[in-house]
Amino acid sequence: MKILVINTGSSSIKYELFDMDHHVKLAAGLAEKISEDASVLKHEKVNKNGESVKKIEKQKIPDHRAGLNRIVELLTDPEFGAIQNKSGISAVGHRVVHGGEHFHSTTLIDESVMKAVRENVPLAPLHNPPNLIGIEVAHTVFPESPQYAVFDTAFHMSIPKRAYLYAIPMDMYVKDRVRRYGFHGTSHAYVAEKAAEHMNRPLSDLNMITIHLGNGASMSAIQKGKSIDTTMGMTPLEGLVMGTRSGDIDPAIPFYLSDHLNMSLKEINTLLNKKSGLKGLCGTNDMREVIQRIQTGDEQAKLALDVYTYRIKKYIGAFYAALGKLDCLVFTAGIGENNPLIRNLCCSDMNELGIELDNERNNNPAKGIKEVNSSNSRIKVLVVPTNEELKIADETKKCLLSQ
Ligand code: ADP
Repeated sequence: MKILVINTGSSSIKYELFDMDHHVKLAAGLAEKISEDASVLKHEKVNKNGESVKKIEKQKIPDHRAGLNRIVELLTDPEFGAIQNKSGISAVGHRVVHGGEHFHSTTLIDESVMKAVRENVPLAPLHNPPNLIGIEVAHTVFPESPQYAVFDTAFHMSIPKRAYLYAIPMDMYVKDRVRRYGFHGTSHAYVAEKAAEHMNRPLSDLNMITIHLGNGASMSAIQKGKSIDTTMGMTPLEGLVMGTRSGDIDPAIPFYLSDHLNMSLKEINTLLNKKSGLKGLCGTNDMREVIQRIQTGDEQAKLALDVYTYRIKKYIGAFYAALGKLDCLVFTAGIGENNPLIRNLCCSDMNELGIELDNERNNNPAKGIKEVNSSNSRIKVLVVPTNEELKIADETKKCLLSQ
């Protein structure tokens, strides 16, 4: 069984083709700057021995349909492809950012699903419209393959009202759907499953805090396999300090910026989403650069890292209290998987809470699932590489087989 996973952005299509009988990636790629003269398509085919053959094309891709058609040509190319023709694709799994309150799990896409995703556009104006374009285009390119939507928000639909309601007039929730939704659900769900497998215990027996630290960053409190709280809110702006997003701030700050600096709503939106976080604090959103600068004695970069890790630590405490009992902490995504210093700072001085790292294990650069806690630590601390595309393919396969 071959499953194609598609993640469509406003000017990009990211894709991965999986052989689900052997659970391996066959090909992957990214078409960027669609509709610009400088379009780029980077494609790779993964051979049986794990080596990849790469192809980069630099020619204008006029629109998403042309992009997906070119991707199909590459996927079926005798040299760079992995299948003979597109009917070799059993199903297509789409990443859809916002499922609102409609979708609690992966869903076969039909007209009513499209309508519901459209209704959620006001909640995710930057993400749901391109996701919809991806689905529409894929329907015409793969008319015979069923299409499934895997929602970033679905995993968090188990969060109870006390955690997802904001303390603002109730009508705002009832009529206008203002509540916390949470994102990165596919990643939190995936690493939680992998952590349970690693611990050789059923997920339904475990309480975890999963910490996804990429360009965007969020945490999830997971009780017996179900999300009971998360750091992101109605939008991905809430919660942790991120690459360019502020995370939590006093909600009155925008009024102050408007009154005293004469900033428009649009400018404040850009400030908090694109110019804040690590970038706002020290001028770069790339954590590798922050670390390099700290190593050369840069105080501003050090301060940015302090703010970044303190916020995570604070949420570990909050989620620990919400869960009551904690079995494991899981670090994942670009920063969480690769940066021992950050894991160390987030877990520092928490021996009394049963969290203690082992320096040697934590600094070991080996890839794959790693246990980085000391043998005295009551709570396991794991590094689990995330794989959102594989999780989308797994979810798609599960739904396909159940129909
Ligand atoms: P995205 O949210 O775009 O998928 P990633 O999960 O790829 O992001 O994470 C991107 C972040 O990971 C960047 O800040 C990058 O600097 C950081 N990162 C990647 N490798 C390392 C590393 N070895 N050490 C520190 N940070 C890293």
